[in-house]
Amino acid sequence: MCELKFYIKVYGCQMNQYDAGVIRRIMEESNFIEVSDVKEADIILVLTCSVRSHAEIRALGQLNFWRRLKYEKPGLIIGVLGCMAQNLKDLLIEKFNVDLVVGSDQYRFLPKLINEYYKTKLPQVATEFTMENYEHIIPKTNNASVVGYISIMRGCNNYCSYCIVPYVRGRERSKSLSQIVTEAESLIRHGVKEITLIGQNVLAWHDNNADFLTLLKEIDQLDGYYRLRFLTSHPKDLTVKHWETFSQLKKFCPYIHLPLQSGSNRILALMNRGYTKEEYLEKVMQGRQIIPDLVFTTDVMVGFPTETDDDYKETLDLLGKIKFDFAYMFKYSERPYTKAQKITPKVDAKIAQERLIRLIEYQNKITKERINSYLNKECEILVEFYTYPYSKGRTKDNKMVIIKDKLEIGEIYRCRITNIKGWTLIGEIIDKSNCNVQNKVYYIENLKEGL
Ligand code: SF4
Repeated sequence: MCELKFYIKVYGCQMNQYDAGVIRRIMEESNFIEVSDVKEADIILVLTCSVRSHAEIRALGQLNFWRRLKYEKPGLIIGVLGCMAQNLKDLLIEKFNVDLVVGSDQYRFLPKLINEYYKTKLPQVATEFTMENYEHIIPKTNNASVVGYISIMRGCNNYCSYCIVPYVRGRERSKSLSQIVTEAESLIRHGVKEITLIGQNVLAWHDNNADFLTLLKEIDQLDGYYRLRFLTSHPKDLTVKHWETFSQLKKFCPYIHLPLQSGSNRILALMNRGYTKEEYLEKVMQGRQIIPDLVFTTDVMVGFPTETDDDYKETLDLLGKIKFDFAYMFKYSERPYTKAQKITPKVDAKIAQERLIRLIEYQNKITKERINSYLNKECEILVEFYTYPYSKGRTKDNKMVIIKDKLEIGEIYRCRITNIKGWTLIGEIIDKSNCNVQNKVYYIENLKEGL
């Protein structure tokens, strides 16, 4: 079978964007051709997310719409892939007339499942967990880009009580060190200047005796790119040794996403997060002491079962103390399989909504304060886009800057922030010749006793 066309729609996080590249490569190697117009497709693949019920509802709405296309195009195959396939399984066939249901460890078998469907005209389901890591598959990205991602691990063993991930993406497993280095070298060869290592908890990565810090040092010494990032880091696994090592890397970007979730110790314990608010705060202070320019962003959840006004106030209080540059803020979303499903009493939906609104207002003020502190600052940007007449570049601490000038994509420039509109930084180039400057190395200062 050859020259069949597929269209892929991706929902969810960066991990799913990465998996879409893996799926594209698998499909392409079996002679399937990707199309950007769904109407041209023989096969529609929907790569889904189940982390919040809202994401599932959106994907199901889209499926409902697309299944009508089957009347116009008999033989059209619709496949649901990823977390939702794992979660809903046969229900997708029974209620949504889906032809393929493929879990996150089964993408290698997609071409075989499609062929099997054509032969038998029977729906195909493959949702077994196999500890698959997609070693030796270099993801195919659609657009040439100066930023690239490498999934260094899959799954999660942490079982936070609200989270469906361990149930739909399986147990934690790490990709081998050699494969990660191969992927990094491939990205660099293709012009990538900023590499982000991704995983549900990158700090837990290991390969025999090598830990995450060994991996970082290995990637850091590769030539031909400027910047190294990673996400997500679980606060419980973060130590002073991590900060010390980050500070010595040449390409480390002083930006870290560290999900807090709640500022109440009672709620953190119910969430099974493995740290207290005091421990979290101490880790932030250690980081700021060792890496003075460090920027933190976070995730915060309100309305977790049993959350009281006092618990909620403790969260606001901690946000006020830490002053994150940005926070992704959510209402608790009940997910199947999770322990939090059984925790009662639930927070009234209206109260949870009010708490979320007030939280957003509160954090937005902090975000604005943080943004305003960039006025007149000098920073180094990596140019990612140019659309006449503006170039867009990212600072090392992950702020996008707009420059009214045509700059070379993939190059580093020094600029000064001259204006701020809303949350957008506007800058001017200080020196028009791009400066592929040696990345600054932070020197560890003596830690204060007790930190
Ligand atoms: S660390 Fe917790 S929240 Fe993150 S993926 Fe694992 S179980 Fe989910």
